[in-house]
Amino acid sequence: MKRFQCACGAHLFFDNVSCLSCGREVGWCPGCQNMTALEPLPEGGYRCGHADCGAILLKCRNYAEEGVCNRMVPVGADQAAPALCDCCRYNAVIPDLSIDGHRQRWAELEAAKRRLFYTLDLLGLPRGGEAEGFEPPLSFSFMADALPDAGLWRGTGKGEKVYTGHAEGHITINIKETDAVERERLRTDLNESHRTLIGHFRHEIGHYYWEVLVRGRDEARCRPVFGDHDHPSYAEALERYYEQGAPADWRSNFISAYATMHPWEDFAETFAFYLDIASVQDTALHFGLGGGGYTDNLDDMLRSFSWVGLVVNEINRDMGLIDLVPEIITPAIRNKLDYLHALVRGGRQRAAR
Ligand SMILES: [Zn+2]
Ligand SMILES: [Zn+2]
Ligand SMILES: [Zn+2]
Ligand SMILES: [Zn+2]
Repeated sequence: MKRFQCACGAHLFFDNVSCLSCGREVGWCPGCQNMTALEPLPEGGYRCGHADCGAILLKCRNYAEEGVCNRMVPVGADQAAPALCDCCRYNAVIPDLSIDGHRQRWAELEAAKRRLFYTLDLLGLPRGGEAEGFEPPLSFSFMADALPDAGLWRGTGKGEKVYTGHAEGHITINIKETDAVERERLRTDLNESHRTLIGHFRHEIGHYYWEVLVRGRDEARCRPVFGDHDHPSYAEALERYYEQGAPADWRSNFISAYATMHPWEDFAETFAFYLDIASVQDTALHFGLGGGGYTDNLDDMLRSFSWVGLVVNEINRDMGLIDLVPEIITPAIRNKLDYLHALVRGGRQRAAR
């Protein structure tokens, strides 16, 4: 994450809606790609507070009306109603806001999604929706399990359980993942080193980029690295994984136990880890912890990531927190990251064209 500054000189955080020091309203300016102080204009709307930008902006509809976003949109020619920003416009389904607590949960999901998009933009990865004719169009649904009818002890039918997952560009996240207690319970049950909202987004977007960058384009090169995604079938692999679990020595070849399930899960898990590395590198650069940020040279990034990981792990242990970077990058995992790095750099060129 970059460093952002308010007009008063105070540090602005990526999630702020006002400056903690001077109280000015703030938001994300798409013009200069910055968090910025908002100067209200007499005729309505705002001016970006960065002198060298000065873009005229409106709040995203989900900022102005729902309080779950902090992004701005450029003022367009025919803006009768406030538009949705470049993150919110990908939403297909939002949580039922008539239910207590759902707005707060939605806000947490949007915050994680904005952080995901920041990293995708940093990497220059292509993305798009139905309106741009993008294949497959990217969209998100944030949904809760349907509650069983009052007084019944059992489920009341199909469709009552929401599975977090990806299908043809559509990413569904069960909003119970915003519940820190539930998440920690699942993390320990499933023996995961981390379980976070941003991690879910990074994993599911990995499936999405398999569709966009690998399917029908790069499968022949992907297969030797991640394995044959057609054999066994996903359904067979899933069944086998839930029966037998991961092989005992999974750490030498896989970034997580779940990655052993099927080549697609391996791809998504490793992709999520690749995004972890890119974000940590970006923050390390901007906050003076060393390294060259997100660059062409994978080995430089991995060296610097390992160093930051070592330091922050020790600091976390000082504070009694879990390790920031529990993963060990073995040669097999480096090989997968190398494939992803080349794929992403290629995808970036495609986006530029
Ligand atoms: Zn300020
Ligand atoms: Zn600006
Ligand atoms: Zn928005
Ligand atoms: Zn998955």
